Amino acid sequence: ESILSIRGLRKQYASGTDALKSVDLDIKRGEIFALLGPNGAGKTTLISIICGIVTPSGGEVLIDGKNWQRHFREARTRIGLVPQELTMDVFEPLISTVSFSRELFGRRPDPKRIEEILRELSLWDKRKTILKELSGGMKRRVMIAKALAHDPDILFLDEPTAGVDVELRRDMWNMVRRLREHGTTIILTTHYIEEAEEMADRVGVINKGELILVEEKTELMKKL
Ligand code: ADP
Ligand code: ADP
Repeated sequence: ESILSIRGLRKQYASGTDALKSVDLDIKRGEIFALLGPNGAGKTTLISIICGIVTPSGGEVLIDGKNWQRHFREARTRIGLVPQELTMDVFEPLISTVSFSRELFGRRPDPKRIEEILRELSLWDKRKTILKELSGGMKRRVMIAKALAHDPDILFLDEPTAGVDVELRRDMWNMVRRLREHGTTIILTTHYIEEAEEMADRVGVINKGELILVEEKTELMKKL
């Protein structure tokens, strides 16, 4: 049963670039799916459309079979995104940024859950620090905490390990496994085949805006 279905999704940017050319994809509940492809393939465009940041030129996105756009508010609360670039208010203390992220999605404040998330990401000791004073790695951790704060059922990670140190990479994978045990569906983008192979149940290969292959990981290795 699919939690997320993508039908004929297209995106042409104003520049004329066809970033996505009719993509169809079904994501199963609770799976870890890696979208693998070189730079410029359309990975960020695809997840940005699903997360409501970019408007598609055509096609549709369904969550639990419901049209995403017609059920935008409901759908939005179910999705969490860890973007590539850091987006945060630099003068805000870490803990209020993360708590606010939860409330932004209409979830009840839950200081215990926020504490749990910050502890898992080794951010608890820094909770009162303003974001501006954190290291780059810590800021990446804050981005993950913000995406998790409202307990989304579908988590998107855009190039999660690009430029990340070994320790954060390990913590991130541990977190992904733990989220999966809780039933969270995870979709990540990467241009490293090793990463797709290590983490995902299924891999979709995207190139020049087309999804050219979708395979169980074990099958993928035979083909590449
Ligand atoms: P990836 O994440 O796989 O690197 P992107 O989705 O970022 O790929 O980009 C797909 C294509 O769309 C590329 O050719 C890129 O240059 C182009 N593109 C991405 N964002 C924009 C934009 N805002 N305006 C115009 N072209 C864009
Ligand atoms: P228990 O109460 O059985 O110990 P919890 O649900 O409290 O289980 O949490 C177990 C682990 O799962 C903890 O590491 C916690 O941070 C994490 N966790 C709790 N709630 C969620 C959730 N909604 N989504 C993802 N992870 C969660």
